[in-house]
Amino acid sequence: MTTIQTVTGTCRPTDLGLTLMHEHLIIGWPGWDSDTAAPPFDRREAKRLCVDRMQELKGLGVTALVDPCPIDLGRDVEFAAEVAQASGVHIICATGLYKEESGGAAYFKFRGAFGDAVSEMTEIFVKEVKEGIGSTGIKAGVIKVATGPHQITPYEHNVIIAAARAHKATGAPITTHTDEGTMGREQLALLIEEGVDPRHVIIGHSCGSADLRYHTDMLDQGAYLGFDRFGLELLHPDRLRLASLIGLLGIGFERQIVLSHDTVWCWRGRPLPVPVEQLAPQWDPRHVLQHIVPTLREAGVAQGKIDAMLIENPRRYFEG
Ligand SMILES: [Zn+2]
Repeated sequence: MTTIQTVTGTCRPTDLGLTLMHEHLIIGWPGWDSDTAAPPFDRREAKRLCVDRMQELKGLGVTALVDPCPIDLGRDVEFAAEVAQASGVHIICATGLYKEESGGAAYFKFRGAFGDAVSEMTEIFVKEVKEGIGSTGIKAGVIKVATGPHQITPYEHNVIIAAARAHKATGAPITTHTDEGTMGREQLALLIEEGVDPRHVIIGHSCGSADLRYHTDMLDQGAYLGFDRFGLELLHPDRLRLASLIGLLGIGFERQIVLSHDTVWCWRGRPLPVPVEQLAPQWDPRHVLQHIVPTLREAGVAQGKIDAMLIENPRRYFEG
């Protein structure tokens, strides 16, 4: 049977249980380390906050969480391992790179000007899955790719090709970031062109579109869709995410949808000028279990379909 790389070692897909497929313990926008006037990162306080959150989630039945932070977004896999150890929740981390406009693209664009950046990226992703991240010995369990809104830049195209090749070399599944409910179909087409089977792919943030044709085009090809930004009302209202989700469940796509929030628990650099609770009061990793699931039940969605999205689909995605 397939094993899954978590930040604290391997586990079996059946060990995952109820899994939030897209949350972040720590994010740092590239450039955060240029803010030398920011207060130093309080690792101990951050760990306390993350372990507390994990305990709350455990109380709601959560037993695993995927933190698909790409390499260039302040990723700290040793921190994730400490939180997993202290909380007993499985955490799966990622290799891969973020979208061009807000990631760390400069280095790879420079490399690409003189050589084959795709090969170098592929080598990095494969190494992080097979051998581990830096000298930590912690291995990535998923490969992340990302695109900005309404276009795939040449840089993002290269990251997607490298991710596809790394997937084929390692078997690690792919999870993506999309903006404004766009470019998911194009991401999937590129991955398929490179020989990736869509059942190893989650097109993330697909709930940012309310276009059911966008959703069914990708579902019909066998990909998973991430309805993974619940509570992020600033970007797209939950009622539209819910309307799309209930519609897709009604026509039988429960085996291809995963649920999450894309919450960020700690930010590198200075504290946010406005607290998150004020900006997006529902953007909390308990929101799906506390509010979205009851709403689905009220809409007549059977418990079996809810379990499929929260328990069985994460398992099957990692089983490959
Ligand atoms: Zn994310």
